[in-house]
Amino acid sequence: MLSVLLVALSAEAAKLESWQFDDQQNRLTFTTDEPIQPQVRLLDDPMRLVIDLPDTELERRRDRENGEGAIDEIEVRRLDDRKARIIIELENNYIIDPGRVVVQGTSETTWSVQLPPPQRVRDRDRRSNRDDEVGIPIAVTPYVPVALIESIELTEGGTVTIQSDRPVESYTSGWDQATASYQIRLSRSRLARGVGSPTVDRRGAALRVQVRQATEEVIISIQPAPGVRIGELTQANQTLSLALVGRAQRQFLPGDRAATRVFPPLNQLPNVANQRVSIAIDPGHGGRDPGAVGIGGLRETDIVLDVSLQLATLLREHGAEVVLTRQDEREIDLEPRVLTANRANADLFVSIHANAISMSRPDVNGVETYFYGSPAGRELSDVILQSILEAADMRNRGVKEARFYVLRRTAMPATLVEVGFVTGAEDAPRLADPEFRTLIAQAIARGILQYVVETF
Ligand SMILES: [Zn+2]
Repeated sequence: MLSVLLVALSAEAAKLESWQFDDQQNRLTFTTDEPIQPQVRLLDDPMRLVIDLPDTELERRRDRENGEGAIDEIEVRRLDDRKARIIIELENNYIIDPGRVVVQGTSETTWSVQLPPPQRVRDRDRRSNRDDEVGIPIAVTPYVPVALIESIELTEGGTVTIQSDRPVESYTSGWDQATASYQIRLSRSRLARGVGSPTVDRRGAALRVQVRQATEEVIISIQPAPGVRIGELTQANQTLSLALVGRAQRQFLPGDRAATRVFPPLNQLPNVANQRVSIAIDPGHGGRDPGAVGIGGLRETDIVLDVSLQLATLLREHGAEVVLTRQDEREIDLEPRVLTANRANADLFVSIHANAISMSRPDVNGVETYFYGSPAGRELSDVILQSILEAADMRNRGVKEARFYVLRRTAMPATLVEVGFVTGAEDAPRLADPEFRTLIAQAIARGILQYVVETF
């Protein structure tokens, strides 16, 4: 019985074929002739990394090499229970962060143990602890074979599907600020021959899907169509799926009250021809003041002037009188804007702006409206916000109160609409799209006309 067991064990034992410690990189590499699963832990006093290689034989009983700098020595030792042990010992007054030790299989039979830069500490009393203590366990990442990406498609239903010959071991996804696109990065992946960027129907869920091979990873960049939101990225065996969520599947955020108000379709705006109503529209900024400048040089003034002019036309077509504080690219102070509205005795004041935050925050997107003081201004802000949310798939940032000059100094119910973020990865491509600006103008017009119909 015993002899059978010994034969079995001996057949399975691996050999440590070579090892090497790179003083410059603080990195140990070693090779066995058969796959093994090392166990690694960090012991203190003096600090040392203990790497146990189960079922591994050594040619020599013991091998050692002096380290340089903070590394005292590297020792390779045969243990009695058919184990090999590699110990990287630091000088007594150095420590390393166990969370930053990276142990990784680089092939079926090669391993890399990367130490972080050792840190010098005060001299400590040296206690000779034993190497069989538990210590701090260090995670070991086994070698992962490269996944071959066999197809990338955008389905008619608006799902990006990625097929591979084995499950992609790890991937990340998120908005890329530089390209204003949503990126999926598949690590340890390679494109199969003939697999590239899929052609997309420009009326579909994505304007563009681009695929490229980078070092050890495949990068897929997706530019969703206006009104389309990035859904969940899910993995099932050898398939990764990213849903592009269209307007039909839109979900309101918590606290969103858009569902409480019923709006007519955008092509059937309420008519106020029999009600004398005058609306002041204030396109923010202009001329030498472009307002916020966002992704791809997208300028607030261009967006808000276009939206405002379209809004004016729509309101006039539906029976309202309109006063614009500017109709072209010119710089106007805040005071004359307010004077224009007050002198015209406008019934409502609507200022149009686009939002911005740091270019490093492309994740911040959405629409918000502002009022100051008056309940009528709050109501106007609310109905416009709800109309936009109903018409366009945008994030809801709510109705807010702020002491903006144009809201404080105007004599009529006033609102300031921030139609989205020029720095937002979701909003910027939409705001750059003339069709989307028309949609926004229609939604604001509908909100204003709805307010007039309900209130006047
Ligand atoms: Zn502005």
